[in-house]
Amino acid sequence: MTTGQIGPDAYRITVAGADFDVAGTFGVINPATGRVFAQAPEVTPDRLDEIMATAAAAFRGWRRDEAARIAAMRAAADVIEANADYLAPILTSEQGMPLREAKADVGRAVEWMRYYVDLEIPRELVRNDMHGYAEVFRRPLGVVSAITPWNFPLALAFWKIAPALRAGNTIVVKPSAFTPLSILEISRLLRDVLPDGVFTVVTGGGKLGAALVAHPHTNKVSFTGSTEVGRLVGVAAAQNITPATLELGGNDAAIVFDDVDVQEIAQRLFWASFLNNGQACLAAKRIYVQDRIYDDVVEAVAAVARSVPVGDGKVPNNLLGPVNNKPQFDRVAELVNDAIASGAKVAAGGAPIKGEGYFYAPTVLADLTDGVRVVDEEQFGPVMPIVRFSDADDAVRRANASPYGLTASVWTPQYERALRVAAELDAGQVSINVHGLGVQTGLPFGGHKQSGIGVENGIWGYYGFTETTAVTGFQAVPDVSR
Ligand code: NAD
Repeated sequence: MTTGQIGPDAYRITVAGADFDVAGTFGVINPATGRVFAQAPEVTPDRLDEIMATAAAAFRGWRRDEAARIAAMRAAADVIEANADYLAPILTSEQGMPLREAKADVGRAVEWMRYYVDLEIPRELVRNDMHGYAEVFRRPLGVVSAITPWNFPLALAFWKIAPALRAGNTIVVKPSAFTPLSILEISRLLRDVLPDGVFTVVTGGGKLGAALVAHPHTNKVSFTGSTEVGRLVGVAAAQNITPATLELGGNDAAIVFDDVDVQEIAQRLFWASFLNNGQACLAAKRIYVQDRIYDDVVEAVAAVARSVPVGDGKVPNNLLGPVNNKPQFDRVAELVNDAIASGAKVAAGGAPIKGEGYFYAPTVLADLTDGVRVVDEEQFGPVMPIVRFSDADDAVRRANASPYGLTASVWTPQYERALRVAAELDAGQVSINVHGLGVQTGLPFGGHKQSGIGVENGIWGYYGFTETTAVTGFQAVPDVSR
């Protein structure tokens, strides 16, 4: 182990309720220092057969007893909640997000578990009359393989874990190699809470992810990550006719009309883009502002950007941490430099913050147009490009002129107008006078176009972890109240 250690002496893989020894480890970097602070066990693809067999064996018992599932999930949520103060610093160390945000991410794991524990699954009786009986049942699929990114390591994993378990599946989760530790610790904490083999975390890189997708025990893949990798996952899943839910990248537009109160929205608009340091799939990634208020919005948001404390997430009061990893940090710098070379005005930030770690100054770019890379591509970092538009048709056309379609937002006090524009936007979610409000346990979340296939959350997320079986008979069933 290296210095600055957070968490246990050694991180361990849990398989079937016990330590599972693997030969190698890989270093996990604290992005606030740029240095390795812990070693994660490296599960190599050749060990997957043993692990997947335990998940497949556990499925037989787990699927049968819904009441037992609900009780175990409820207990799991309690254990995670009770360990929030232990887990949050591990998450901050590996992800970079401020401790308060890390606690919120732990809280979302708990919230999602409890939501699916309490979710009422409606009965789907299609007919029960003199012509016969027909009913649709949602059956679990078996072993679900979940692959997650590094931006919200717990929340995004539990968007999958909670509905998959409630539906009666067992699940094997592979987190990002940048953020493997907090979820790994949760799997250790739940050793005695969930039955053996029901929930397993395997840590490693892309090769392990690919092996998991292709594994014969995988009956469903749920992937969150980039469109580039999502495409590979979709193709690999298709080889085995394995259903795949893909939650992918976005280039989410915010459209700000000239009747807003600029000062009133400035903070909210800033956080629309800078949530988790811009490393959120649903962050506003290009801001279209109507001509008349363009300069005022740029200045108001830039003023917020200049005032936000940035630094190590473990230091209280820092509201933004580092970029999570070096490749992403380099990408942010590259996109900003490209925009500046293309004539963009830097209204705030525009450069890395000197010193150790992957800190980049919150950056607001103005006087740039569609066609510049930072507008057209997903920056996934602390950079807000602000672009002019003239009228609603112009804004909608440009917002939709993207291969992505994850989220969007419309900003105007005229609700009717906002709803009209919302109806025309190609996005899985549209928020009004705020961005990303649609991330709620009970609402479907998913992208159009190359932002993904399928949705998570709510009853729709639950259905995604099931297959339908229609049961029919030529007589009515006497008692349908069971
Ligand atoms: P990534 O695609 O690089 O990695 C995601 C996961 O896939 C990691 O666990 C990685 O190890 C694994 N992986 C890599 N190669 C693989 C392969 N060939 N087969 C299977 N798995 C493989 O994404 P990232 O950099 O970790 O995350 C950032 C991206 O995720 C952004 O594009 C962001 O928009 C997207 N994202 C989307 C959502 C959503 O809900 N739509 C949410 C969060 C993040």
